[in-house]
Amino acid sequence: MAVLAASTRDDNAAMDLSRFPRRRYTPTPTPLEPLPRFSAALAASCPGGRGPEVWIKRDDLLGLAPGGNKTRKLEFLVADALAQGADTLVTCGAPQSNHCRITLSAAVKEGLRCRFVIEERVPDSYRDDASGNHFLFRLLGVEALTVVPAGTDMAAAMQRVADELRAQGRKGYVIPGGGSNALGGLGYVAGAQELQQQGFEQGVRFDVVVVGSGSSGTHGGLLAGFLGNRIATPIVGIGVSRDPPDQAPLVHAEAQAVCDLLGLDLRVPHDAVRCVGGYWQPKYSLPNARMVEAVQMLARSEGIVLDPVYTGKVMAGLIGLARAGELRAGQRVLFIHTGGMPSVFAYERELLGLQAVAP
Ligand SMILES: *Cc1c(COP(=O)(O)O)cnc(C)c1O
Repeated sequence: MAVLAASTRDDNAAMDLSRFPRRRYTPTPTPLEPLPRFSAALAASCPGGRGPEVWIKRDDLLGLAPGGNKTRKLEFLVADALAQGADTLVTCGAPQSNHCRITLSAAVKEGLRCRFVIEERVPDSYRDDASGNHFLFRLLGVEALTVVPAGTDMAAAMQRVADELRAQGRKGYVIPGGGSNALGGLGYVAGAQELQQQGFEQGVRFDVVVVGSGSSGTHGGLLAGFLGNRIATPIVGIGVSRDPPDQAPLVHAEAQAVCDLLGLDLRVPHDAVRCVGGYWQPKYSLPNARMVEAVQMLARSEGIVLDPVYTGKVMAGLIGLARAGELRAGQRVLFIHTGGMPSVFAYERELLGLQAVAP
């Protein structure tokens, strides 16, 4: 690929992230570990009883309460909010949004207030007394929360909140859903650099990286980081809410926006954006049987808890690709655990197999 070959002095300077203001919420790199028992369990259900060697990057152990992929994005977004003199973070998400909860946790830590616009993507799914992330919204002290129906213009709804704050002499800073703009994507450029350094220190190389692909800041930011740092490992994004025809353009746009913000002189090649669909159905956030299998399999082989909305479906995708022979024996595959643990408490019966779920 031409983009990987061209290396200019300017491009090297572009990858120096130290010029962007950043708050630090995680003191050390997140663990990068093999999953030998999970890999063995997976192999037993793969063609010929052999499967890939699966590793995990524990981004569920990032900082904040508890952390996840949004922690990396917020390091740059909150630094920008503080630089602009904001006193309140305004963001949006679903009723069990990890992004909202982690943003609130960052706000508390910084002495800021925090307001949400919650999109009821599944009609009638919002409950004032819900557990999981919603409980944490209340425990961490969200200042206000507005619930709007699916399909609402979320940018406009958040702007209305910011306008109300301004009318009161306050200053809101609007963070888009998932923290996925160019600035937020820098979090996963930093994540790519961390991974590169760590792989070097541990003497491990990966043939494929598997990551969740939703609002696309993680997948797109990581891709920008791989291109900018000339890491040739392909990234496979498993969709959590869209199939490839709808997801790939989002990821491409995010990766390009991050490259542009960095000042990299490159066009993101369309074939570098690899998206896999079919694992998120019947709908975003609604459980399916393959997700339940994946969550149980990792929990019971390695003692690591995935979540039902994102990482469970992403791991179901990894398992499905291995069983289809698309991830093979002899390949080393890195799964990025992007967090989300609190929402298991909103899906207990489904995850234990006590309540029927979609196939
Ligand atoms: C938000 C989220 C994702 C998806 O990341 P995006 O950057 O929105 O694509 C994956 N996993 C978890 C646990 C999340 O909370």
